[in-house]
Amino acid sequence: MDLRYQSTRGEGRALLASEVVLKGLADDGGLFVPTSIPELGLDLRNLRKMDYRQTAFAVMRRYLTDYTEAELWACVCQAYDGKFDTPKIAPVKEAGGMYYLELFHGATLAFKDMALSILPHLLTTAARKQGDTRETVILTATSGDTGKAALAGFADVPGTRVIVFYPKDGVSPIQERQMVTQKGSNTFVVGIRGNFDDAQAGVKRIFGNAALAREMDSAGYRFSSANSINIGRLVPQVAYYVYAYGRLLAMGALQEGQRMDVAVPTGNFGNILAAYYAKKMGLPIGKLLCASNDNKVLFDFFQTGEYDRNRAFFLTSSPSMDILISSNLERLIYEIAGDAGENRARMEQLEREGRYAITAKMRARLADFAGGFATGEEVTEEIRRVYAQASYVLDPHTAVASCVNRKYRQAGGKEGLSLVVSTASPYKFAQTVLSAIDPAFAQTSRSAIDPAQDQAGDFAMVDRLSHILGQPVPEPIEQMRHAPVLHDTVVEIGEMETAVRRILGMA
Ligand SMILES: *Cc1c(COP(=O)(O)O)cnc(C)c1O
Repeated sequence: MDLRYQSTRGEGRALLASEVVLKGLADDGGLFVPTSIPELGLDLRNLRKMDYRQTAFAVMRRYLTDYTEAELWACVCQAYDGKFDTPKIAPVKEAGGMYYLELFHGATLAFKDMALSILPHLLTTAARKQGDTRETVILTATSGDTGKAALAGFADVPGTRVIVFYPKDGVSPIQERQMVTQKGSNTFVVGIRGNFDDAQAGVKRIFGNAALAREMDSAGYRFSSANSINIGRLVPQVAYYVYAYGRLLAMGALQEGQRMDVAVPTGNFGNILAAYYAKKMGLPIGKLLCASNDNKVLFDFFQTGEYDRNRAFFLTSSPSMDILISSNLERLIYEIAGDAGENRARMEQLEREGRYAITAKMRARLADFAGGFATGEEVTEEIRRVYAQASYVLDPHTAVASCVNRKYRQAGGKEGLSLVVSTASPYKFAQTVLSAIDPAFAQTSRSAIDPAQDQAGDFAMVDRLSHILGQPVPEPIEQMRHAPVLHDTVVEIGEMETAVRRILGMA
């Protein structure tokens, strides 16, 4: 029996994995979820011997049941190869008594590579299986890292085009440069005058536009999404939690069956939802620690049971988490409500009023989760502390989770071993990192090396970090140093659809 997927808003029939990977978002505006979360079905004793590909295959085949084993294995092998700078793909490192799962060894130096290096293969395989010959247009909103990872994953993949919308003033200089230098005749990058939530809402609006979908269809195009609203993003992310458990067994840090707590730097709630799925599959995970920056809408939600996005929005040193509408939370709300109607009512209220509340009964089903947040100062302090203690350098996103984890344990919330999910290379955020660990930099006035003024300043900081760490600058950053800017379009929020039409030649 194949596993089926249904919309969190209840409409439409249950679909196969390959169908939902192709569609991205459900027609009723909901997100696809499996009708039941499958069992892991693995003997934990074998896990320590399995490499990344074997683990990813074993986990993903539980979800993508209508892919043949040969199809799925081919996807896994095309994704997790020499694009990663280590054969371990996702190494686990110990530093200062904590364990860090490093998910930034792919082509764009952020954890989005874990899913976006396989999604194009899952998608083109799905199109082949469904006999769909239309060109797939990947529409993606990014808070910084998804965009580049989607561009890199889909560049020059036949039968696809990828269009990325990013907040023009809401990403780090290195993140922006990574995107605007992207090569590939099928890649398009558009800045918007708005924040990530505006970009994501705009993309969802385009997806929900039935008239446009009909026009697209007759022009031979089909939209899909590379955002974590696509189940093809979420499923590959479940795999690295299982892999991490195997690594911890191999390191002797855990015995089979012992629990690990995971601390996840969270924005759109995709990464931590994957951990929740891993736990539901039977992986021994204790607490799921949801770590936020100053945009702590999720922390407040776990504290009070009320989700309220009506608040000030902050640009922080962890821009990939600067989000007030965490799309994937809908999948959890659906799960704890146990009913699509209950979920739909809340999502509609969120759209209308920017807030909703859950019932006491629903809250009781969130006991696996704990929320925490770290301020900008705490983030800098955490980077400094871990570096001083263990000569290990955290990027600001990882530092949010590391700090939240530390505070949580100090407050006595310990269950098992702590695994902090490390989501980006420190080189992507050199300025924040240097301001924490480099006394010389901390004394330099900000304007002397202002990346907004001076692009050479970004590379000066990268070089300085490389010097301090005694490591070469990572290849993906080195390659950008002299790369020409190939994308310079910037539009207003209301012009996103027009931009898409122009790119597809259907103005
Ligand atoms: C996207 C991103 C996050 C947030 O992950 P979600 O799945 O959106 O919660 C955290 N850190 C980095 C570096 C990211 O790129």
